[in-house]
Parts: sequence; structure tokens; C-alpha cells
Amino acid sequence: MFIPDKNVIAHLHAQDALTQNETLFRALFENSSDIIVLVTAEGLISYVSPSITRILGHPSEEIVGRHVPLLIHPDDLALMQGVFADVLQSPRESLRAEYRLRHCDGSWRWFEGVGMNVLDDPGVEAIVINFRDITDRKQSEDQLLFQADILRNVTESVIVTDLKGSIIYWNEEAQRVFGYTPEEMLGKTTSELYPDSDTMLLAHDLENILAGKDFVGVWLGRRKDGTSVWIDIKTTLLRDSRGAAHGFIGIAKDITSRKVVEQALDIQQQEFQAIAEHARDIISRFDLAYRHVYVNPAIEAFTGLPRHTFIGKTFEELGMPDSLASDWKAALRKVFETGQEEIIEFAFPSPMDSKWFESHLIPEYAHDRTVASVLVIAREFTERKRAEEQLKASEERLRALLEHSADAISLLDHRGRRMYATPSSARIIGYEPTDYLGEGTIEQLHPDDVSQVQQIFTAIIEQPGLSLPAQFRARHKNGSWVWLEGTGTNLLDHPSIQAIVVNYRDITERKQAEEALRQSEENFRVLAASLPEIVWTATPEGSIQYYNQRWYDYTGFEPASKQPEAWSAIIHPDDLSHVLARWEIAHTTGEPFEAEYRLKRADGMYRWHLGRSIAIKEKDGIINKWFGTATDITDQKEAEQQKDEFISIASHELKTPVTTIKGLTQLLKRRLERQGATELVSILASVETQINRLTRLVNDLLDSSKIQAGRLDYVQEAVDLDALVHNIIETMQLTTTTHTISIHGASHASIKGDRDKLEQVFINLISNAIKYSPQATSVDIHLAVSYDMVMVSVHDNGVGIPEEQQHKIFERFYRAQDSTDRAAPGLGMGLYIASEIVKRHHGKITVTSEEGKGSTFTVYLPLES
Ligand code: ADP
Repeated sequence: MFIPDKNVIAHLHAQDALTQNETLFRALFENSSDIIVLVTAEGLISYVSPSITRILGHPSEEIVGRHVPLLIHPDDLALMQGVFADVLQSPRESLRAEYRLRHCDGSWRWFEGVGMNVLDDPGVEAIVINFRDITDRKQSEDQLLFQADILRNVTESVIVTDLKGSIIYWNEEAQRVFGYTPEEMLGKTTSELYPDSDTMLLAHDLENILAGKDFVGVWLGRRKDGTSVWIDIKTTLLRDSRGAAHGFIGIAKDITSRKVVEQALDIQQQEFQAIAEHARDIISRFDLAYRHVYVNPAIEAFTGLPRHTFIGKTFEELGMPDSLASDWKAALRKVFETGQEEIIEFAFPSPMDSKWFESHLIPEYAHDRTVASVLVIAREFTERKRAEEQLKASEERLRALLEHSADAISLLDHRGRRMYATPSSARIIGYEPTDYLGEGTIEQLHPDDVSQVQQIFTAIIEQPGLSLPAQFRARHKNGSWVWLEGTGTNLLDHPSIQAIVVNYRDITERKQAEEALRQSEENFRVLAASLPEIVWTATPEGSIQYYNQRWYDYTGFEPASKQPEAWSAIIHPDDLSHVLARWEIAHTTGEPFEAEYRLKRADGMYRWHLGRSIAIKEKDGIINKWFGTATDITDQKEAEQQKDEFISIASHELKTPVTTIKGLTQLLKRRLERQGATELVSILASVETQINRLTRLVNDLLDSSKIQAGRLDYVQEAVDLDALVHNIIETMQLTTTTHTISIHGASHASIKGDRDKLEQVFINLISNAIKYSPQATSVDIHLAVSYDMVMVSVHDNGVGIPEEQQHKIFERFYRAQDSTDRAAPGLGMGLYIASEIVKRHHGKITVTSEEGKGSTFTVYLPLES
């Protein structure tokens, strides 16, 4: 490229005369890459090189003869005019300026114009301006300026070095970060910015960068003032347009403040970790979705679950019981919403049993002061909870006891004023515990009891710890008097009581019962004293507690002397053993005692007594005492004896005439039969029937007398029981028209006994069955053997025997109530005699009967062994 500067022009002028060279110049001008313009002093273009057409597209003939401003950018016009004025005043001096010239397509291009005033040169007589196109340079300059601007304004520090590390660029941010100005740093190396860095590491990093790998990392640098600065840096290799490395560019950011926060956070995190990982409390963290984001190892010990199972899960997702999960959610939500700490207690199901925890829920804040997470510290307090529950339970128990206790407790102060009362007091005296608090209690007492209670109260007040009982009446709210039994204790010195404690209960009923008892005892004594019988009471063991007056009158003993063993001393020696035997039975079984015995009177006479005693038992059946009487039955006994003697004599005396009458009647009947006096025979038959009845009655009376006197004789013979019963029935059926007597079964037994008397037994039972079943038509006899006994039962469908009379019908002369009315004849001796006979055969008779339905009498006799 040829640039025609002033030396060239001068040279050209020197050759001015050399016209032969004109052609050469023209060619040069025309082919120059510059535009050469000749301007007159008036500013008119007198010549333009043809290169203008190539460069700006304008044909040169359009330009010649025009003013220069035609091509100049309006913004550059003033500059150009200024320079033109200077050029005019400074001949032969070249002046330089940059302008935009218009291309024929309308665009503007940058040119460097160099003008020189050679108006004085007669060969030229013009101002020569040489325009060189500098558009490309201008553009790259602009680009550079733009980039430099960017670099200056980037918030990162930008440092550029050459390959040796000498700093060739240092921007404002780099100055701000490190404190050095560009002047201080240009030409220096970056190593003094990082005095603490490991050179080996630096070398290694450098190698990597040279190999084309950008370095990205964090370095600790030092500022001009000596303080540390954390740098986040990216270093890249710089290459020229041919790709050759020619330097490094480092773009860095000051992250010191972030680093400080990070370090502080890191330390905090480490501290938290160290504490949490070793804490015995459960520590966990929940995010906004109530999920575990952290749990410490303690949770494993408590739940038996590995800690990772918790992470990312809510309580619900962990399968916790619904109520627990919802409680937790509610508590967490509250903390997230309010930002306030919460405390909740809950039971956590663990493999063995439930464990109780107290949890503190602590909000953790984000930068914007919202709650980002919740930290939970849960401490187990199962033991404490249990203790609390036990305490609560025992308090409740105590309160329930006090409320439901039959007793009431009042606390009185030293002047007897009511300070406290248990709820049960309302039940006893009608007043609520809060009634007349702070008022005196003496006013509530029965006037007759006031002085007694006052004395006791005074005694208690004088002696701390003293406890005294009292019985007194107090007025019930309803106006009635209530008997109370109480104990007052002086606990004024007791630190947690500081009162007189009065414990009392209602004994009104007991008092009434005592009074009733006293009354009834008095009644008993009056009654017992006036009775003609001997009356006594004895302890459960039998020692006498009380005798009535009759005892002392009869025995002549002194009332003062108790003489507990007096009984045995005055019972007739012959009676003593059986009385004692009876007593022994009564004493051990508690059954009533009854015995007849003779008692010696004061005058030495023995008189018969019927002794009876019954045990007075308490509700639970335990004998409380024995109550007994002894009734003088001597006169009765004698009358009985006289009656027996009379019956015995009478029946004996009747026997002979009746037998004689019977014999003679039979004789007479036979004679009259032979004579054919049938009418008389039938009359005699009736007489005979009545005589037979009479004979039976006399025999029965005789038998019973003999039995009474123990003089009835028995023979011992083998008796075929089946045959005996069959015979009896055959005979009886002959004279019985109303009933059919049937036999069922057989005993096949032979027994030892008195045939006639056994016959008498069965005849009696069968006659009774017929006699007492007038409406019925059958009597059934059953024979059977059971074990070692023969059973003969007689069954009828008759009137039956009322249950309460059944045990009496075997007594002598006893007849059941109705049988007398129904005109069934009899003396009430048959069953007596029968049972005596059976007894003598070592057997027994039983009866089962239902009134209106019939009776069954069964005779048991021992088989012959
Ligand atoms: P009695 O001479 O009165 O029949 P017993 O000694 O034979 O005397 O009987 C006593 C009482 O037992 C009778 O008066 C009667 O009331 C009752 N008695 C006995 N046997 C029967 C029976 N088979 N059915 C109903 N009552 C009977």
C-alpha cells in the first residue's frame, strides 16, 4: 500500500517540471487506494482521483466543481470547516482529522483526511487532501472501546496476563476487590495476590489451563491492606486469531462475605450435628409438608426403626396411629403459621409398650422471616408421666374415698372454728362443706353435750398430738339431732395440716339400736322374772349368763353366787348322762335341745322338768347365745302315768268279758244257723262285727299299754314275707267290697321276726289305706328288695295327710286333723303300734303323702343275715 505523505508530495513538486513523468503520476493517483482531492482556497473541488468511484461509488466528474461538504457527514462538517480554516492559515503543513464520507448507496464510511495547503505552489495551487478509508479500523476501535467499557463495567474482576504471568489488564472491579490500582499492578504477576497458595497446586492448575481446560475454583487471596479475600475464579487461556496462546484471563468474584456466612453455617451445622447425633433426646426436623428431613440416631433406640425409614415421610406415611398423626400435624401447622414454639405431650407406640414424650417444636426461619422448617426435640418422660398418673390416680382415689367415706373429717382451728370439711359431711349433718366455714362448731351441738365436748376440746388443744374420742349429738340441717362418734386429734403442729382434725361418723342408728336392745333386754328380764318356768341364757360354750328368779326360788341358791356348774349338781344322777349326751349334740350342731330330767328342789325333792333350749344365732349363723327354759312337768307326768295305768287296767279288765262275749255270740250264731233262724243269724253277724271291732280296740289299747311299759313280747321265727302279704290280702279282700287290693313284685325274702305282729302292721296299713280313701277303688302293694332291706309299700289314692302333720301321725293317740271330722273311726293307736313293732324288728316306717291325692306308707325290714 502506498501512502502519499508530504515527503512524497515534495518529491513530486521537485519533479514538477518533469512532464514526462505526468503519465506516471496520473496512473498512480488513479490506482491509489486513497482518494486524492484537490480543493481551491474557496473550497471547490478542482480534482478528484478516479479511485473515488471504486471507493465511494461516485463518478469523479459528478464531484469535480462541487463544494467539499457535499461528501461530509453533517456531524463532521464543523470539524472539517475548522480544519480547513487551519489548513488555509498554515501553508505546507499537513493537518489530520477523521470524517465520515457518504457512499453513493447512502451509507457512511470513515476516512482519515490529511490536508496540506500548497496554494502557493504554482504547479499545484490547491489544497491537497488525501482521504484514506479507515472504516475497518474504526469499527475495530469501536469494538475495543465497547469491550473495554464492558470490562470496566462488569461486576467481576477481570485480570489479563501474558503467558509469563505479567498483568496486562486490570479492571475496576479487580481494583475494588484487591485494593490495587491498575497502575500498581500492570506488569506485576498475580502471585502476590495469592501468597498463601500452594505453588505445586498452582503449577498443576496452570498446566491444565495451558492444556485448554478452564480452571474454575475458589482461592483465598490477600488484599493490599493485608486482609483475606475469598475469590471464586475462572481462568481461561487467551489465544490470538491464529490460535496461538498469548495470555490468561481470569474472571473472579469476591465471595468473602458468602464464604464467611458459609463457614459460620458450616460450623453451626457441625455443632448441630455433633449435638444432635449424640443427644439422648429425639431430635428431628420437619419441612413444610410435615415430612421428616432429619432425625438423630436416638430415634432408633426409642422406636426400634432405622432412622432412614423416617426421612421424607410424614407421621401418616409412617403408619402412626391416626390420632397421633393428626395431633402432630396440627402442632406443626401451628408452628409454621404462628412462628411460635409449641410443646406437646404424646405417647409413642414402641415395640414393648407406649413411651411418653414431651416435644418442643421450634420454628426455623428462612431469610424472608417465614418459617422454613420445624426442629423438634422430644424428651422421654414415661417414668415421670407414670409417676404423675399414679399420683393423680392416688389423689383421685383419696378424694373418692373422702367423698364416699361413711366418715367425715373436719379441720378446726385452735378456737374450734370450721376451716375445712370433707364432702361426706353433707351426708351426715346436711350442711355442705362450704357452709358455716370459719364459724364455731360448738353452737351446732346438743346443749346436754356441749360441756363434755368443750372439756375434751380443751384437753386436746393443750397437748399437741393428743387424740381423744367423744360421742355427742349435733344438729342436722333439717333440725333433727344426729348422734356422732368422733375422734379429735391435735395436729396444729403438723406442717401441712395445722388444725384440729375431727374424724366423725353417724352413729344414730347404732344408738337407736342400742336403745332398742336395752329396752328389749329390760322387757325380757321382766318377762323372764314373771314366768313360772326356769329361764336361763348361756354363752355359745354353755356357761350360764343369766337365771330368772324362778331358778333361785326353786333351787334355793343365792343370786349372788353364780354356780355355773349347778345344773349337773342338781340333775338326778340317772338322768345326767342322757341330758349331757343331748346337750353335746345340740352344742355341736346348733340344733334345739330338748330333754326330760329330774331337778332337785331346795327341799331335796326331785321333780320332773322338760328342758328346752335354742341357740340364738347371728345373721351369719354363728351362735350368739343359748336361751333355755325348764318347765316343771311332774304333775303332767303323773297324770300321764295315771292315764296309762287306767288304760292298762281297763283294757285288761275288758279283755276277758269281750272275749267271753265273742265266744258266746259265735256259739249262739252257730246254733241259730242250725235251727235256720236266718233273721236272728244276720243280727248276730252284725253283733259279731261290732265285737270284732271292740276286740281290736281292746287289743290295741292293751298293746299300747304294753309297749309303754315295755312289756310287749316278741317271738323270733322265720317269716316268708311274700306269703304273709299274699295271705293278708286274700283274707282282707274277702270282706272288702269297695276296693281292689293288688300286689306288685315280690321280695323272695325270708326274714326273722314275729309273724303275728308283722301281720298286725300290714293289716293296719291296708285298713288305713281303705279307710282314708273312700272315693277310691284300689290299694296297691309293692314288694321289693333294695340292698339289705325288704321294702313293702302300701299306696292309696285317698285324702292324703297335710305335710306339717306327717311326722306326728306315728305318735300315740294322734289323729290327723281332718280324719276326725270325716267320721273315720279310730283312736290314733294303729300307726303308733305299727311303728313300735317295726322298730323292734330293726326297721322303719316312712310316709310320703300329698293332701287330696293319696299316701304311700313304706315298711323297711332288714333281710335275714
Ligand atoms: P286311726 O285309728 O285314727 O286310724 P292311726 O294311728 O292308724 O289311727 O292313724 C293315725 C292318723 O293318721 C289317722 O287318724 C289318719 O288321720 C292318718 N292316716 C293314717 N293312714 C292314713 C292314710 N292312708 N291316708 C290318710 N290319712 C291316714
